[in-house]
Amino acid sequence: MTRGEEKILNSFLRSIHPYTYEKVEEEIKEHFTILGFFIKRIIIPLALLYVIFGVIFNIDLFDSLFLALVIFIYSSLLPDADIFFRATKNKRQDSLWYDKLGMLFFAPLIVFYIFLGRARKMYTFSQRPFHNFSMIFVYGFFLLMISSIFWSTSLEKASLPILGMMGYAIHLIIDKFPKKVKGYINKKSS
Ligand SMILES: [Zn+2]
Repeated sequence: MTRGEEKILNSFLRSIHPYTYEKVEEEIKEHFTILGFFIKRIIIPLALLYVIFGVIFNIDLFDSLFLALVIFIYSSLLPDADIFFRATKNKRQDSLWYDKLGMLFFAPLIVFYIFLGRARKMYTFSQRPFHNFSMIFVYGFFLLMISSIFWSTSLEKASLPILGMMGYAIHLIIDKFPKKVKGYINKKSS
């Protein structure tokens, strides 16, 4: 990213949220470091188990496995999409629930529209609406609907919501207990 682009992105992020670009970049880097740990310890063993099931039941699981892994990484960043909501102290200005869910379900599309300057402004009364553990289940239900459209076996249908919810949950846990998570990982890694 060039200096000019960084400046534009910075002023854009400052205009919607007190967060600056550096802060977000720092947060994402940190999440990736910790994510690597979880991928090695949980996701890879789980993926192997999934493939073994596929061989036993004679189902081709590789496409759903690949998509589920992509969704895991994506979901572990998704909660930070709520930085695009402007904080408001006026309860009547608070965006409607379906606006918020729209962002939760279709974040890349809506962020794209925000960058084009064509999205309508969104507000939040509660601090960061996606940093809430109940959102994990709302998001998981959405992923279950999506995977039910694409796949027929229950093993495949379950893969997307399970990995998506795990990614989302890991993000919230890292945010809520950063010191505990880092301490745990340092202990296990050394
Ligand atoms: Zn976060």
